Amino acid sequence: MSADVLPQLRTVQARVEAGAGFEPAGVFPRFEEPLFATLRAAGYHRLALQLPAGLARNGADLAAELAKKSGARVDLAARSCFGACDVPEAGEVPGAEAAVVLGHAPIPNIRLPLPTYFVEMRERAGDTAALSRTVVQAQLPRSLGLVASIQHLDLVEPLRSALAEVGYTVRVATGDHRLAYAAQALGCNYSPVEALAGEVEGFLFLGTGAFHPRGLALAVDRPVWPLDPLRNEIEPPVDRASLLRERWLRVASARDAERWGVLVSSFAGQFRGAMAESLRRRAEARGRSATLLAFGRLDPADLQGRAFDAYVNTACPRIATDDAALYDRPILTPPEFLMAIGEEPLEPYRFDTFR
Ligand code: SF4
Repeated sequence: MSADVLPQLRTVQARVEAGAGFEPAGVFPRFEEPLFATLRAAGYHRLALQLPAGLARNGADLAAELAKKSGARVDLAARSCFGACDVPEAGEVPGAEAAVVLGHAPIPNIRLPLPTYFVEMRERAGDTAALSRTVVQAQLPRSLGLVASIQHLDLVEPLRSALAEVGYTVRVATGDHRLAYAAQALGCNYSPVEALAGEVEGFLFLGTGAFHPRGLALAVDRPVWPLDPLRNEIEPPVDRASLLRERWLRVASARDAERWGVLVSSFAGQFRGAMAESLRRRAEARGRSATLLAFGRLDPADLQGRAFDAYVNTACPRIATDDAALYDRPILTPPEFLMAIGEEPLEPYRFDTFR
């Protein structure tokens, strides 16, 4: 480990272990009056507003509305955010006394750098009777697990009831301490479906886009059917075999790597310093060299020109599984790294569940 990385990691470790930081200041389903009233009552003068990529185009309008209704000056936290763990840092928006984060639920095991208000942007639309008819027409198995993106969680119980009325057994599970809600899908933690995998024939994912279906298919050896609640469309199950082939090819490409870079993020929500150090030791025990590289937000350009054969990433697991093409060396998750150095078998594939 390079000498300059050690103090940085120790500082983050101490912060995490001391539980330094804030609990969520508030959680709201939508960008509506209850949020604005809470902010007015708190008397803030300066707020930071963070938006997911899908709302970036509306940033100026949303900031103006928030300023008008909260009575505070509102500045946008403009950098693109990774996900629910990547909230505005203290000082990122100079002068901001608190942050308003749209589109994410809080992650309970993360302490926050600023008083932070989460607005989950829950979706009101979705016809559960029509959705259940779609499931029946698609002839899905009768025993299903149900999981949803945060925007569509309010449909979980009504859809479960609607499917029960037509003869389905639909299970919903509570996840671990990284998840705020039962049935919630988070890109680095699919513990609700892991808990049910042995008890159901497959999973319904209620939401849009390919990100969660892909993660779910890596996490559980069960078919995953994406069901778009807004368009009432169901897709064929995710091709898990093809995803696994892709990952095993990455593992194979790193099998002979001698010089490993062990990536560790200083973000509180992505920091796994003890794991990084353990992986470094395990690489060395197998006769490989390994060096820790600390970063905040990983940029592929930061790794260019470095003398490593491969990387293992202890930060967001989806960097390796979804963004590997952006890197000029193989980049693996910790379980894949253990496969590559011969400590773990290739099967069963293990998703890097962040706990
Ligand atoms: S670690 Fe990755 S998947 Fe998990 S919340 Fe953060 S950005 Fe999302």
